Amino acid sequence: MLVIGCVVQSCHYIPFLKYGGTRGEDNFPKFKDKHYFAGSPHHLRSAFDITCYDWTVSVNPKRKDLDGTMIIHFRAQDSRDTILIDLQSKLKVYRLTGTIPVLKHRHKGDLLFVIFEKKLVPGELYSVTIDYSGKPASVIGMGPVVWSEDETEKPWVSTITQGIGPHFMMPCKDLLDDEPDSAFIRVEVPADLLAIANGKLLKTEFRDKKRTFHWFVDNPINVYNISFNVGNYVRFEYPYTDLTGQMREIEAYVLEEDSAVGKSFYAQTPAVMQELEVLFGPFPWWNDGCRFLQTSIKSGAMEHQSAISMGSILENDWQVDSALHTNSTLIHELAHEWWGNSITARDYGDAWLHEGMASYCEALIAERLYGDWAYAYAINQMVGRIDNERPIIKPFGVRYNSWVSRKDGDIYNKGALFMHSLRMQIDDDSIFFQTYKEAYEKFQLSQISSADLQDFFIEKTNMDLKPLFDAYLRQADAPTLSYYFDESRETFHYKWLRPLPEGFNIKVKIGVGEGAVELYPGVVYQTVPMSADVDRTVPRATFAYIEIKKDEDLEHQLMPK
Ligand SMILES: [Zn+2]
Repeated sequence: MLVIGCVVQSCHYIPFLKYGGTRGEDNFPKFKDKHYFAGSPHHLRSAFDITCYDWTVSVNPKRKDLDGTMIIHFRAQDSRDTILIDLQSKLKVYRLTGTIPVLKHRHKGDLLFVIFEKKLVPGELYSVTIDYSGKPASVIGMGPVVWSEDETEKPWVSTITQGIGPHFMMPCKDLLDDEPDSAFIRVEVPADLLAIANGKLLKTEFRDKKRTFHWFVDNPINVYNISFNVGNYVRFEYPYTDLTGQMREIEAYVLEEDSAVGKSFYAQTPAVMQELEVLFGPFPWWNDGCRFLQTSIKSGAMEHQSAISMGSILENDWQVDSALHTNSTLIHELAHEWWGNSITARDYGDAWLHEGMASYCEALIAERLYGDWAYAYAINQMVGRIDNERPIIKPFGVRYNSWVSRKDGDIYNKGALFMHSLRMQIDDDSIFFQTYKEAYEKFQLSQISSADLQDFFIEKTNMDLKPLFDAYLRQADAPTLSYYFDESRETFHYKWLRPLPEGFNIKVKIGVGEGAVELYPGVVYQTVPMSADVDRTVPRATFAYIEIKKDEDLEHQLMPK
């Protein structure tokens, strides 16, 4: 027996309503110059390359505010006297100094301009120290800081900034193309609570009924992955032997009140980890650790690097026979450590490289753990959740948020179905999975674009895959098969409803079981004989994800008169 619960759409967000608009080319919102200024790597941002964030933050659950110091270490890239940092306007700077004298700073809206007394020298290392405080804006209760309490009324506080922007809780450069090489996250909390962040715990310090946890991330990290969680946590360890035979440890932190169910829930993680390591290679952050946390985020989960936020999920949704075995969100978030965190989109417009890949891994891990049927089931579930209202690839160089509007939700399921279509059209699993793994190996710890991935697959397979990438990622409509079965003549008529990118030539399957045929539709109608005995279902994801539309006009024309 198979029962699969609803798949939680993780990493989802609905804070900025403007992204729901339908103006502009390709149904995208229309952006103003200020949106491009905030979201592009122009000269005031490219003038400095961040080497390390050193963030100290005092978390006050009673007042629901933060008091922080951010030291941004950077290497000058350009001879300029001004740099631009992001900091949301509700957080106020009360001191700003630098290793190069600061003439002044201006906090205009969410932009913090830092003007030095003299020009930076390219190649030199500098730092600025920004003391700030305030109550972070509450974006309809979904972040960036989610203040909550456990059942015993102890504070339970988590952060989530993807989509909203990490500058809603700390000064930073909110672009994906500049990851620091490392980060310190030093979190001060009431002494009876734990503060868990990314990376390794270096030390804890007690002072005045407060405790400071010093965490260190010894890897590049996307700025929106920097996070902390505060609560009355208990910790569990799960031994894991990696593919080289080395003993590792996976940690889980759950609220004390949920310790029994939490301990059992996270027992699945070694099995999922093993399958992901087989697919893509070693977990990227063993030197920082791998932990999962029960977090106060109500809206889903978030792939915070080496410290994954699982929200309140403590139940499995994949059931095989009588037992619930795995949780698809846990698979999704762990997969992000390879696709999203190690390989990162260079621009938010390519966020499908994170979400589509992680969603596809839900199906791949189901296939590896449970078999072909589980893969097919997961893929067909996704087919029913596509909107086809906006292209998967979004505008570049603008502060685009793919986690707000339902119209952008295709970065998840359609992104996954694109990878499924790519696999089926390559039509050789050994080539597909070898290329997929090699793509990870080549691009790990870097930022890429869709075009980089596309070029890599074309080079490795020697196939003209660009029309496939174009059709699924760069236009809103899915390939749609227009068809009609002529009962009296026992013929099947088929063509693509709308023009597709030049060279687009994919195989589709018509019918189920005996008598099913494989066809290559074009833009004009073609006809094949098809017995009336054939199950004429048109599967929508056998060789590629397609939409289907019965041609009522043709039916009318062909109808015996
Ligand atoms: Zn995700």
